[in-house]
This record gives sequence, structure tokens and C-alpha cells, in this order.
Amino acid sequence: MNILVINCGSSSLKYQLIDSESESVLAKGLCERIGIDGRLVYQKTGLDKEITETDMPTHKQAIQLVIEALINDKTGAIKSLEEIDAVGHRVVHGGEKFASSVVLTDEVLKTIEECNDLAPLHNPANLIGINACKELMPNVPMVGVFDTAFHQTMPRKAYLYGLPYEYYEKYAVRRYGFHGTSHSFVSKRCAEYLDMDLKNSKIIVAHLGNGASISAVLNGECVDTSMGLTPLEGLVMGTRSGDIDPAIMEFIAKKENLNIEEMVTVLNKKSGLSGMTKGGSSDFRDLQAEIKAGNQLAADAVEVFCYRVAKYIGSYVAAMNGVDAIAFTAGIGENVALVRRKVCEYLGYLGIAIDEETNLKTFGDEVTLSTPDSKVKVCVIPTNEELAIARETVALVK
Ligand code: AMP
Repeated sequence: MNILVINCGSSSLKYQLIDSESESVLAKGLCERIGIDGRLVYQKTGLDKEITETDMPTHKQAIQLVIEALINDKTGAIKSLEEIDAVGHRVVHGGEKFASSVVLTDEVLKTIEECNDLAPLHNPANLIGINACKELMPNVPMVGVFDTAFHQTMPRKAYLYGLPYEYYEKYAVRRYGFHGTSHSFVSKRCAEYLDMDLKNSKIIVAHLGNGASISAVLNGECVDTSMGLTPLEGLVMGTRSGDIDPAIMEFIAKKENLNIEEMVTVLNKKSGLSGMTKGGSSDFRDLQAEIKAGNQLAADAVEVFCYRVAKYIGSYVAAMNGVDAIAFTAGIGENVALVRRKVCEYLGYLGIAIDEETNLKTFGDEVTLSTPDSKVKVCVIPTNEELAIARETVALVK
């Protein structure tokens, strides 16, 4: 089956066409600046990237352009729309309503809309993408794959906050967690790769990218994760603060004369690695260059980042009363040896040892980093959220 995977944001849209039998990518790309001016990036596998500046006032027009590129005579990956068997959509927030992927019926779409409140920046954009695809491909089955679904197995002790219970009852305020598609994919693949029985395993997944989160996966089910009601909680990220004393919000808001929305924007967009380096780049390639050049703030930011990751891993070892394997994934986890080394050094007390030579030459490969005598396996498992979405989609429409 050919599955079109769509990840739709408010002004951008990423897509991949995946052949589910061979699990290969036939074509991929993105639409940027939707509603502003418009830019289509398209790449058929094996050919050069094509970039077209073109008007795309709405998501529907953007998806129309994607379809035209996919069936284009010269560089199209398929001959006609009929060759798209299903569409898999990434949906950010499924609240407590969705513990797994679903076929997107009108009723399901209404229920997703009810979750908009929980992810006001993401869910409405996801829905716009779904509706645009439905209009353009009315007979093609559509599936929604939720970032939050994998974490719905968390026990109450992990998802309830120490807040008045009415806020949970009235507004569903609780920990949901995100990056679930990645945590699910990587934990399963980690067990497979290490020849472990997933149903009898304790795995910690460190998804370290521009957004970053950690999860504790016990016997294949998520029992805790670092992101919360929103993706702001947990690790220090590219521009997000992660955990802070909540009272800091009032303190800074008063000093800087900010309202609550402005304060939350600071925490989401102006903090993390970027904020800690006074608005510097949050990209680890730049941070490492800055450290080499003697920038103390960059060095501090990286230390804080690694320390927070190590503390979360330690707490999840406690949550599961042990750990068999730790999997690093996403842009930083897959590519930054410095982070993996520093994090593992903190975990020496668990009997963890990694081979630094292997660590230094690992960029995006599936690799075991731990030495044979390490008490816990440590590996790098590249994530592939698009493939995970395609697999979920096939499972539901076949
Ligand atoms: P993601 O959100 O998973 O795409 O991760 C993006 C982040 O991964 C970037 O901001 C970088 O910090 C980091 N990253 C990606 N590729 C590399 C690389 N080759 N070397 C160092 N850091 C990288």
C-alpha cells in the first residue's frame, strides 16, 4: 500500500509517501509559509530536491500542490491519485479520548476538536490538514495518529498533578506527554534490536531533539514521561525551559511587566538552550562550536541540558525499580556524542559503561554503545515517526 503521511502545522506541512510493503520512502517534502506566500519542497527518492516558490493561500491549495507534484509526469512518484491507498495524519493531542490511532470518521473529528483546548496551537492546524485532505481525496481512508496516545497507559500516580482535583475533573488538567509515536517506535525497536522480550523489559527512551522528552517503558507500556499537559514540562529544550519553579512566572511577570500569555511565550520560545545563551543558537552544532571558542554560557547550557536528562533517567530507574536498556534518539540523541557521554557518566552508579570510540563515530546509526560488561544496555535507535504513522495507518485500513 502507498501511504501518504501528513504532519500539518499552522503555516507548514510536512509529507512523505511511503510504500508500506518495502517501508521505503517514495517521495517527501514540505510546504512552508502557507497563507503567507508559499514554498513547496518536493523530492522523489533518488532525484534532486525541487523547490518551487508558489502561492499557497490555504492548506487545501498546499495539499493540492503536493498531490500535483506526486503525480507529475516527469518526477512524480506515482501516476495518479488512485495510487494513494490511505493517508496517515499526525495529531498532537488526543486528550484522554484516544489511547490508540483511529480511522478519522466525522464523529472522531468532532472528538478531536474537543481536545483543541488542550493544544490550541497544534490541534486546529492538524484538523485543517485533515479536512483539506478529505476534500481533495474523499474516497481515501484517513487515520489519525496521536502524539499523546502511547502515554495513556500511565498510572494515575504518574499523571495526576499535586493540584486541586477539581482542575482534573473540570478541565482534564493532567500529564499527557508527547512524542508518543517516537517513544513507542523506539522502545519496540530497541527491544527487537537488543533481542529482548518487550513484554518483560524496562526501557528508558531519551528523545532528545529540539523538543525533548524522556519516557519510562515497562513491559512495552509507558508508565511515565517528562512532558505534561503541554510539551513545556520536563527537560531543558531548544527554546523551552522545561521544569521550573512555577512561582518564577509571577516573579518575572511583575519585574518585566508581562501578562500571563507573554510569560508563557517566554517559557516556550525564549528559554531553554537559546535563552540560556542570551538568544544564541539552540543547535548543538553551534553550541559545540561556541564551547570550543570559549563561550561559558554555551558550556553551562549544555551542562544543564545533560544534567537534567540524567536526573530524569535516574528518576525513571526508580519508577520502574530498574532498567534494562536506555535508548537515545532524535536529532541530539542520534548525533551528539558529547551529550550521550555526559549523560552516561552520571549513570555510572548503575554500572553503565559505554565505548567512547563507538560513541564518537555514531551519527544517526542504530548502534549499541554500552560495553559488553555494562550492567545496562545503552543504544542509539534512530526514530522514524513517519514510518510509525504509516504502519499504524496500514494496520487500521487493511
Ligand atoms: P530534531 O528536533 O529531532 O530534528 O533535532 C534537531 C536538533 O538536533 C538540532 O537543533 C541539533 O541540536 C541536533 N542535531 C541534528 N543533527 C545534528 C548533527 N549532525 N550534529 C549535532 N547536532 C545535531
